[in-house]
Amino acid sequence: MSLTLRTWRRPDQGALFVVTGASGTGKTTLVRAALAAVPGIAWSVSATTRAPRVGEVDGVDYHFVSHDRFDGLVAAGELLEWAEVYGNRYGTLRAPVESALGAGQSILLEIDLLGARQVMKAMPDAVTLFVLPESLAVLESRLRGRATDSEEVIQRRLREATQQIDGCGEFQYLVVNDDLDTAHDCFQAVLVAELQRRARRETLVTAMKRPAR
Ligand code: ADP
Ligand code: 5GP
Repeated sequence: MSLTLRTWRRPDQGALFVVTGASGTGKTTLVRAALAAVPGIAWSVSATTRAPRVGEVDGVDYHFVSHDRFDGLVAAGELLEWAEVYGNRYGTLRAPVESALGAGQSILLEIDLLGARQVMKAMPDAVTLFVLPESLAVLESRLRGRATDSEEVIQRRLREATQQIDGCGEFQYLVVNDDLDTAHDCFQAVLVAELQRRARRETLVTAMKRPAR
């Protein structure tokens, strides 16, 4: 599928997309391509206490913060959700999400299962997607192929992967990342379809209504 959305009329009301899946399943790969292909969806930059990986940029990939700063964000109610993942804390800043949705824009959160559950509770209109690997063996080889984590971290991520996958039944959409091109198509199809919902396009509907005689 090759998207041609040059003249695409954006919806009046954006969507809050939540993307979850075990580490190494390809969430970031799918999300990056989708944000480049589908206009009008912002990426929510999470706060985290984990150290940056090589090539990661503060304020772009994450807001890399100290434990004290993270405590401050939690205490001030500035996080829409947060969770401890693989020994570090990660959280979604509430303000950018509210301001994007308030301005009719869409925003996408790539977060873990515990965080996704908090968002589903706080924002029941959220559109939830779960990315599944083809198998656990494939997941392991992807985590190794990325070559950014130590053996100990990889082993821990594999154990925690099965816990994340147990929660996939709570999500609206499942995208299997087997063949990457197919997965891109399926993932982007969900985003585009959700943005065509009539409820997000009331202005267009109203403008088309014939005046009453
Ligand atoms: P996540 O964000 O879920 O942790 P990544 O997007 O970082 O996962 O992907 C993990 C690794 O797997 C990366 O090296 C990525 O290039 C690779 N990858 C992702 N999807 C596929 C796929 N369908 N086939 C082969 N490799 C893939
Ligand atoms: P990584 O360290 O590989 O970037 O991310 C590890 C895990 O943390 C991934 O499963 C990712 O989805 C999750 N994560 C990233 N940001 C957030 C966030 O803001 N909140 C929650 N709950 N999880 C997050």
